[in-house]
Amino acid sequence: MRPSIARIALPVPLDRLFDYLIPEHCFPVIGGRVSVSFGRQTLIGIVIELATESELEKNKLKMLNEVIDVAPVWTDSLFSLLKWCSQYYHFPLGDTLSNAMPTALRKGKSADVRPQLFWSLSEQGRNKLMSGMGRAVKQAKVLTMLTSGALPHEAMTEAEISRNVLTTLEDKGWIFSENVVPEIKPWPDNIDNDSDKPRLNEEQAVAIASINSCGGFGCFLLDGVTGSGKTEVYLNAMQSVLQKKQQVLVLVPEIGLTPQTIERFRRRFNVPIEILHSGLNETERLNAWLSARDGHAGIIIGTRSALFTPFHQLGMIIVDEEHDASYKQQDNLRYHARDIAVMRANNEQIPIVLGSATPSFESIQNALSGKYFYLELTKRAGNAKPTKNHILDIKGLYLESGLSAPLIAKMREHLNAGNQVLLFLNRRGYSPALMCHECGWIAECKRCDAYYTFHQYTKELRCHHCGSQRPVIHQCQECGSTQMVTVGVGTEQLENQLTVLFPEYSTIRIDRDNTRKKGSLGSALDEIRQGKHQILIGTQMLAKGHHFPDVTLVAILDVDSALYSSDFRAAERLAQLYIQVSGRAGRASKSGEVILQTHHPEHELLSSLLKHDYRQFAMSALKERKLALLPPFSYLTLFKAESNQSDTAEMFLRQVRQTLEVNPLFDQQCSVMGPVPAPIAKKAGRFRWQLLLQVESRTAMQKLLMSSDYALTLLPLAKRVRWSIDVEPQELS
Ligand code: ADP
Ligand code: ZN
Ligand code: ZN
Repeated sequence: MRPSIARIALPVPLDRLFDYLIPEHCFPVIGGRVSVSFGRQTLIGIVIELATESELEKNKLKMLNEVIDVAPVWTDSLFSLLKWCSQYYHFPLGDTLSNAMPTALRKGKSADVRPQLFWSLSEQGRNKLMSGMGRAVKQAKVLTMLTSGALPHEAMTEAEISRNVLTTLEDKGWIFSENVVPEIKPWPDNIDNDSDKPRLNEEQAVAIASINSCGGFGCFLLDGVTGSGKTEVYLNAMQSVLQKKQQVLVLVPEIGLTPQTIERFRRRFNVPIEILHSGLNETERLNAWLSARDGHAGIIIGTRSALFTPFHQLGMIIVDEEHDASYKQQDNLRYHARDIAVMRANNEQIPIVLGSATPSFESIQNALSGKYFYLELTKRAGNAKPTKNHILDIKGLYLESGLSAPLIAKMREHLNAGNQVLLFLNRRGYSPALMCHECGWIAECKRCDAYYTFHQYTKELRCHHCGSQRPVIHQCQECGSTQMVTVGVGTEQLENQLTVLFPEYSTIRIDRDNTRKKGSLGSALDEIRQGKHQILIGTQMLAKGHHFPDVTLVAILDVDSALYSSDFRAAERLAQLYIQVSGRAGRASKSGEVILQTHHPEHELLSSLLKHDYRQFAMSALKERKLALLPPFSYLTLFKAESNQSDTAEMFLRQVRQTLEVNPLFDQQCSVMGPVPAPIAKKAGRFRWQLLLQVESRTAMQKLLMSSDYALTLLPLAKRVRWSIDVEPQELS
């Protein structure tokens, strides 16, 4: 019988499907988009099932409006993966699917390759160019560009040719435009473009051979310090995949920080490469997506969300800097892109490589237990020398905006030798608080349980939790004194102090505040490499994989805040930051130095980091996690609730706790902690509470969650609070 009902997942916060009647001449497909009326809106949804019966009476059902796709949006295996993600992370299917599509598709645009505008030279234009163009420089440039054939409009934009110039030329009849459906050209037979490759060392050769000999699924943890040649391993492993006409997905933490890596890919391979980054407009993003789906692109490089790109024939996944926290999405579908990438590789029976100089403890544990193959690169390629590392005890020392005198002296030494210095301070703004010198009153955000950060450049107080801002307060609101002083040091203040201490050198600050503008991060990084600045200040942002060959001194200014954090992952993160920044110092022929400023030089973590390498540190930290039954030796789920009334949020989580505890699947493997107020107990005017579930096995946790899911949505307060489930959270706040 012809199905008369379509069960549709819609982007609404209700975790259920909706039945619609199929009109006479319409043929929806499972996994394809349809548009429907929902209340007063028109929504785009995905068909999940086709049926002949509905639980609702047929005369209560609405007709769907329109069938948009004649083919499914995703491949079968990717579609299953998305459905699985929705269940695993307890996020509604309709929203999950909607978020996994490029915006253009979410809005209902066609999923066919769209014609592109091409410019060509006319006969007349060719003659004109021959006879000379006089002073019309831009016009001549366009004609010259087109002499060897038609070019897409983007090429003109890239060459900074304005629409005006093109229209003028078109009006004169010298050039003409056409809409052309981009042709999918087969890749050249020889996809390898680079004859000048380094000779692989033995460890690299072993790694590549292992990856390439893996028929089907295999997960490889590639553990190698910065500069040990991991990228070279990726390139070689990719080559054999591309040679088989299969595609490669490369995930990176942040595109802006990897321009040289991308450049290396382009130089090496003769296949189209698409970069999925936040600067793409809707059409560009859709085209990149289609290019992967239709098998045009050989390599897709992107951040977290690129994981859900469909491929014509995916042959390998690479996750660079696999330990990076940005792979975990912090809202909506709270997925971990690395974990789901492993899942995807398994489903599609292809190899996946996880690379890092500082692998996550989860991945190390998976390698130890034999789930992942462990590949190690121990030597820095080329002739880089190991760094000299020290702990600088700053107890009792006078600090100038966070800098101790011995550190300032060290900086002078390195700067005078013509090198660059990199300082890490993981705190934006001028100072993290503004205080009255007479009575101690501190300016506090009214909507949050947090102090305002003072930003000197914009002359305002900003709350880093809710984003609210206000003009600087010059007078105490408690006692009326005008003696307001700053407390603590942020990157802006450090920058100020450095220009006073080192007026002869140029200082540049790189944090989220001054790299918001598109392209500004890239140009800052370029300036650093060109040597325009000698002193670099950065937050965590600057620790990620990129190379400054002239930096010979790196200092981490505020080690103590990580040593005494309430988050059990803080030590792992500090160790990762430390190893990552050590890897930045003293590449090429210059030897480097790393300094850790601390009040606690005796702290075990610091001495073990200095004495041993990351792996030994990880092994001893893993032992501690095992004793404490913390991840990866148990699995966590964080329930969060917020409300205008503190009691309501707390009460709701009490009900959640009860629901879990009365579930027959809740056994001695499981424990719940809380509800407790969240670390920031009030944010943007709402009170926040949380509840932590800890279970010894992942399967047991999932079963418990699955079977409690429905009961949770029925809780009396579930509709009165804003709540979420974070499965395997990375941040406990
Ligand atoms: P990673 O990705 O681990 O930081 P890269 O692959 O970028 O390391 O290698 C660091 C530098 O060493 C690069 O300039 C690269 O071209 C070079 N390199 C890599 N492997 C070798 C090798 N076997 N011999 C010589 N140079 C190499
Ligand atoms: Zn006061
Ligand atoms: Zn606030």
